[in-house]
Amino acid sequence: MDIIIGIDGLEYNYVTEFQLKGLTQKVYGKTDLSEFEKPRTMVIWSSFMSGINQEKRIMSLKNMWGFKLNKEETFLSKIPKSIAIDVPGYNQDLEQHEKERQAMKDFFDKKITVEEYDNMVLAHHKKIKEKFFEELEKDNELVMGYFGAADVIGHLSFGMKIKMKVIYKEMEEIVRKASEKADRLLVISDHGMEAVGRYGDHSTYGFWSLNFEPGLDNPKPTDFYKLIIKDREI
Ligand SMILES: [Zn+2]
Repeated sequence: MDIIIGIDGLEYNYVTEFQLKGLTQKVYGKTDLSEFEKPRTMVIWSSFMSGINQEKRIMSLKNMWGFKLNKEETFLSKIPKSIAIDVPGYNQDLEQHEKERQAMKDFFDKKITVEEYDNMVLAHHKKIKEKFFEELEKDNELVMGYFGAADVIGHLSFGMKIKMKVIYKEMEEIVRKASEKADRLLVISDHGMEAVGRYGDHSTYGFWSLNFEPGLDNPKPTDFYKLIIKDREI
């Protein structure tokens, strides 16, 4: 089974500083986002899933978060028995996304604490994690799990290194456990983060790692498409 673990906002500099060898696997690096005007979550995941830069298409929409690729546009259509869980631009739980945006607003309006915010995010994380590991037990050729907590929690706490280390270790555990089931394992983030005081903003590169040498030099998010579908026809 091939496995893709998408981790939103996973920052290269924290992964290396915390020495998370599960996350860095055999080969790892930063992704090149220079083709994009800005490191936007929806744009980069949609581009990754389709192997095509989707920035213009998405930015022309009134509501970017309503954007959805058809399965036929993604690598999933090339791979029988493949599934993606909760990926932005494809099948993300939009109700949860809206809840998270509202909760961030409530935090800044001093209606909820950061702990309440974090707990809401982690409850969703737990649900997705369970679904992901369930799929790893099934007869799948490819499973992609998407985990948003490092980004969503990072936006309010990226500058708080001790807290972020706990979140990164959780992601490390997921990768280590999944690696036992994986023939090929890709860990990919859309962008990283940089601290703005205690808060966090998107950095201008992403992160990738693989459990084999892919022969990729400074890859863009769209460069993984061919690798994922292997010798299957484009
Ligand atoms: Zn993101």
